[in-house]
Amino acid sequence: MTDKKQNVWDMTLERLDSTMDLLNLTPGIRKYLRQPRKVLEVAVTVKMDNGDIDIFTGYRIQHNTNRGPGKGGIRYHQDVTRDEIKALALLMTLKCTVVGIPFGGAKGGIAVDPKKLSLKELENMTRRYTFEIINNIGPEKDIPAPDVGTNSQVMAWIMDTYSIDKGYAVPGVVTGKPIELGGSLGREYATSLGCVYTILSTLKVKEIDTTDLTVAIQGFGNVGYNCARILYDLGFIVVAVSDVDGAIFNNKGLNPYKVADHRDKTGSVKGYNDGEDIERDSLLTLDCDILIPAALENQIVQGNADDIKAKIIAEAANAPITPKAEKILVGNDIFVIPDTLCNAGGVTVSYFEWVQGNLSYFWSEREVKLRLRDIMDKAFYEVYKVAQDRKVDMRTAAGLLAVERVAKAIKLRGIYP
Ligand code: NAD
Repeated sequence: MTDKKQNVWDMTLERLDSTMDLLNLTPGIRKYLRQPRKVLEVAVTVKMDNGDIDIFTGYRIQHNTNRGPGKGGIRYHQDVTRDEIKALALLMTLKCTVVGIPFGGAKGGIAVDPKKLSLKELENMTRRYTFEIINNIGPEKDIPAPDVGTNSQVMAWIMDTYSIDKGYAVPGVVTGKPIELGGSLGREYATSLGCVYTILSTLKVKEIDTTDLTVAIQGFGNVGYNCARILYDLGFIVVAVSDVDGAIFNNKGLNPYKVADHRDKTGSVKGYNDGEDIERDSLLTLDCDILIPAALENQIVQGNADDIKAKIIAEAANAPITPKAEKILVGNDIFVIPDTLCNAGGVTVSYFEWVQGNLSYFWSEREVKLRLRDIMDKAFYEVYKVAQDRKVDMRTAAGLLAVERVAKAIKLRGIYP
């Protein structure tokens, strides 16, 4: 079997196991971390516009809540499976721990292509899903946020449904809300800004001059577009971007703002007039300095890893590189900034949103950015130090740091009863 189709939960466990081997954890703690704390599967029944009903499978999974409430996005995508959500929940446990925020790991999703639903159907589905998982979420329990296929409007519907059930407004049940409902300034682009901060730290430790560096970005949704925009504003040359329908290239650089206008008008980045259309997946192997996968899992695999020319890969997406591919990349001296560090800016500003909501006191956009930079830089250098000290790659280092901290939290709390 090619690793393109390898089960992402198996891959995540494979990585967790090798980290736990290095830490010499006891068999009991190993079992504890390999097993999600709670797996909820629900039938989401929706009244469709044609008067009939349809049923979609939804999940909310908490991997670990020893360090705080569960935290993690909700994904609407046709390929969502229980195993995928389990893997993403485990990555959230590690991510929150790497950046030192007081949350555990959770994730949710519905197996649905949201583009095939009308706005009314999307709202009906979101509200019914919220109702089905309502006893498992809450500001002190488990706090959803946006992920692939969901956005601030979806969060607003979740908040409203939850609040109606409780009888009073509970903004803290979700993050990534609209600003008008208690969202945080900067949350929309926080994942991308955090990713850019980790790229800047990488360039610093590797003593690479930022002038004229070229970047290719896979995925032009929330994370991919904002990465492109922020890097473009900093003077990087964004030579290629892609979405599910195709990729575009211009060796002199694309203007992400204009590409976004084109995408909004036509539905895709394809056919942009100031660039040429290229084969979608060829973006990954373009000659460039920095590659940012910002779409889905299993994109850099055994079959294309050896053709990657970028010297730095920033994992804005979750799990875009398979373990087999990673061995090849490490062998080729490619520096990978792992997802649990690279895309942790989103959950960090989600944490800020939760804190601001609890205090009912909201910060300026500048303050959010400064605090985000503090946390991302601190996490980067902590992971980098472990990598240097233990002579391991950055993913292994991030894993060591996170798993050790979670194992400690489990031991300190002890096992009930
Ligand atoms: P999104 O739905 O806004 O965008 C996804 C983009 O990927 C779309 O442009 C889509 O067309 C594109 N895409 C899908 N399959 C593709 C393919 N095979 N090739 C090229 N492009 C493809 O989702 P998002 O919120 O931007 O999330 C992207 C990634 O970032 C996911 O892995 C997600 O888990 C991760 N992430 C998101 C956040 C967040 O705050 N939104 C936080 C952390 C991590």
